[in-house]
Amino acid sequence: MTGISFDPTAPVFVRRCPSYDTPELMSAVSDALAAIGMKKDDFRGKTVVIKPNLVMKKPSEAAATTHPAVLDALLSYLDNCDTKQVLIAESMGGPYTESALRAVYEVCGIAEVVSHHNAALNFDTTAGTLPAPDGEASKMFDIITPVMEADVLINLCKLKSHSLTRMSGAIKNTFGTIPGLVKFEYHARFSDYTDFNRMLVDLSAVLHARCVMLDLCDAIVGMEGNGPTGGTPRQIGCLLASRNPFALDTLASALLSCEHEVPMITEAARRGYCPVDADKVNAVGDGWRELILSDFAPPETAHTGRNPLHWLPNLFGGKLYRWFSPHPVIRTLSCVGCGECARSCPVHTIELTKNKDGKKKAHIKPDACIRCFCCQELCPYNSVDIKKNPLMKLIARMGL
Ligand code: SF4
Ligand code: SF4
Repeated sequence: MTGISFDPTAPVFVRRCPSYDTPELMSAVSDALAAIGMKKDDFRGKTVVIKPNLVMKKPSEAAATTHPAVLDALLSYLDNCDTKQVLIAESMGGPYTESALRAVYEVCGIAEVVSHHNAALNFDTTAGTLPAPDGEASKMFDIITPVMEADVLINLCKLKSHSLTRMSGAIKNTFGTIPGLVKFEYHARFSDYTDFNRMLVDLSAVLHARCVMLDLCDAIVGMEGNGPTGGTPRQIGCLLASRNPFALDTLASALLSCEHEVPMITEAARRGYCPVDADKVNAVGDGWRELILSDFAPPETAHTGRNPLHWLPNLFGGKLYRWFSPHPVIRTLSCVGCGECARSCPVHTIELTKNKDGKKKAHIKPDACIRCFCCQELCPYNSVDIKKNPLMKLIARMGL
């Protein structure tokens, strides 16, 4: 990138929030916006689009999605800003249709919250093209229409572990601006892990360059283990905010004890967008070191960037890498044969076959699998496990 730049010293606001208690959150959101230089006037007369993380229709207690109480607090603030329009927009995993949007908004508790405010839910499922002339991995992105038309975009992300990218915070949440099934095309196009992370940095950067954009992160209760949808809720206890998503994620990675292990952050730091060390982040507000979760469970896949076998993709046409790297396995007992995984697989390597008692079960043809873990992310029954090669398990245990 040459034309897009970020101030690596941009403030990252931290406010300790032990719960989703609404009055406390309202003051936290208001203080967060002030701390990152946003005033009520900045929203006046503007079309403000809020992009939460609604990866799939799960209730807020599952901690896979942005908690509605955080949206409630943000909307309360915006109710007094004399905006032109406030719209909640998300392209979740799976099909991007009006009925799928309606279901996600309902189940995630977003529809109920929005009904109390001067805001609307997006049901427009069209998309546009956003050029990214400075992109290093991609020169163009397909982006959902409300995001293309926003004057102010608020990235209302959720902090959690992620099987593919190690962590999901501000950067990864922008992937949900790409319409529905087109996301699977991106997984196939950027099947190389490094390219996928470079693409995410391009996307986050070009969205921030397109309009006024800010990042607000629900890190009150996050998810550990096999996120973004199949992990376990974990108390983190804070709200984060910044105008620099990369700096926010650098700090967030330290909270989840995966500092220096998140390739998309390493890539952003290489471009000079953010500090590589959380200690160098310009953190303001409450102290954050006491919030570090030293026992935070990583996803089983954990592409850490420290992996000593990272050179394997280039050997023997990638065959060794496929053998060594974690891969998805269907848990046949709980699989109900709904086909969601097959529909979400970018390389169409999952088929539904009937077992002896005539019940449909998913089956993965491993050779073509690109290890994107979309199947694990989107299985509504948590029936996709991640299997690790025993040698890699041993290496991880030895801390190499
Ligand atoms: S693995 Fe999950 S998504 Fe795939 S068919 Fe079985 S239950 Fe459905
Ligand atoms: S089987 Fe799962 S991990 Fe493999 S390519 Fe398909 S969706 Fe991705």
